[in-house]
Amino acid sequence: MTMNSVLEPVNSHTDNLLDFDKKGLAAYFEKIGEKPFRAKQLLKWLYQAGVSDFDEMTDLSKSLRTYLKEHCTVSVPEIVLEKVASDGTVKWILRMACGNRVETVFIPEEKRGTLCISSQVGCALACTFCSTAQQGFNRNLTTAEIIGQLWVATNRLGADSRITNVVMMGMGEPLLNFDNTVKAVNLMLDDCAYGISKRRVTISTSGVVPAMYRLSEVCDVSVAVSLHAANDVLRDELVPINQKYPLDQLMEACQDVIKHSPRGFITFEYVMLDGVNDTFTDARALVRLLKNVPCKMNLIPFNPFPNSEYKCSSPSAIEKFRNVLHKAGIVTTVRKTRGEDIDAACGQLVGQVKDKSRRQDKLAKRRVNSQSVSG
Ligand code: SAH
Repeated sequence: MTMNSVLEPVNSHTDNLLDFDKKGLAAYFEKIGEKPFRAKQLLKWLYQAGVSDFDEMTDLSKSLRTYLKEHCTVSVPEIVLEKVASDGTVKWILRMACGNRVETVFIPEEKRGTLCISSQVGCALACTFCSTAQQGFNRNLTTAEIIGQLWVATNRLGADSRITNVVMMGMGEPLLNFDNTVKAVNLMLDDCAYGISKRRVTISTSGVVPAMYRLSEVCDVSVAVSLHAANDVLRDELVPINQKYPLDQLMEACQDVIKHSPRGFITFEYVMLDGVNDTFTDARALVRLLKNVPCKMNLIPFNPFPNSEYKCSSPSAIEKFRNVLHKAGIVTTVRKTRGEDIDAACGQLVGQVKDKSRRQDKLAKRRVNSQSVSG
């Protein structure tokens, strides 16, 4: 059969090629009568050469290039704002389809460069200390919009600033956008695409327990769990998904993650909130909870944002807390706050969310009510 007779469009609409991982692309090519190995060639053009113009993809046949031009696009998010902090951190505001905007942050360090990317427009969870949560939720990002953040950052930074690590710690809960997150992560790890080591790609979750088990089955990247409290009463309040998946279930899921982890341990994140979760008793409770859990602990100084109810723990409280964990044998680091002067620190990413969850309305009402009570 000649190529031309086989090349029927898979869909009537235009397909964004960044929506496919290698498996998906191979299936796509098979459907249009092409050899699956074309997937590898295309991935190298798209992600290693950063080429989006089909005419430049010279090892693809002319008829395939014509087909791709007619039926496919390579659409990446558009940079609407770039800010560079005094410490070199770069924040981009990216415009996605439907007018939504999300934020992506690059954090350069001496020996590595970490890109913090978003998985959703806003967030459906209501963690009380997180400014993304205050924005409400609009929708999941597509695979193209997730991997597109890495594409845009890689092309924008050029050869000098290498992205060695990716953390899914931007806006949204990656495990509530499971399929698109996994496809995007596959592209990060794929040797034909970005080829980043699985130890250097981290999915951070607030503890969506069933999705943690599913993730272990399909993709063995590093996982970080946002713990923030060592007892259910407090965690129910700070991370309300705990009401659905309480600590005993979460810790069991963590053991499963550890079994599959590329590094043999799990990372926990713990935001330091003054007088809320930072006492000696809290630290001791954490030590008890994490007994027999191979882990690293990352203490995150709370980053304030407008209308936030919390204050960051004092440096000495953080140090005391760290020492309790350290003495109990838990490797504990305190995360350096980066990009503060451009609002690029953890939990300060807000983007621009057309809120469908009406959380913005509810929070505004609550503020008005509490003001009228206290006034
Ligand atoms: N939904 C995912 C990933 C996004 S948040 C998760 O919950 O893990 C990435 C990390 O930043 C999480 O550990 C989150 O709890 C933390 N974070 C959120 N708001 C913060 C704030 N205001 N200050 C410090 N850390 C914050």
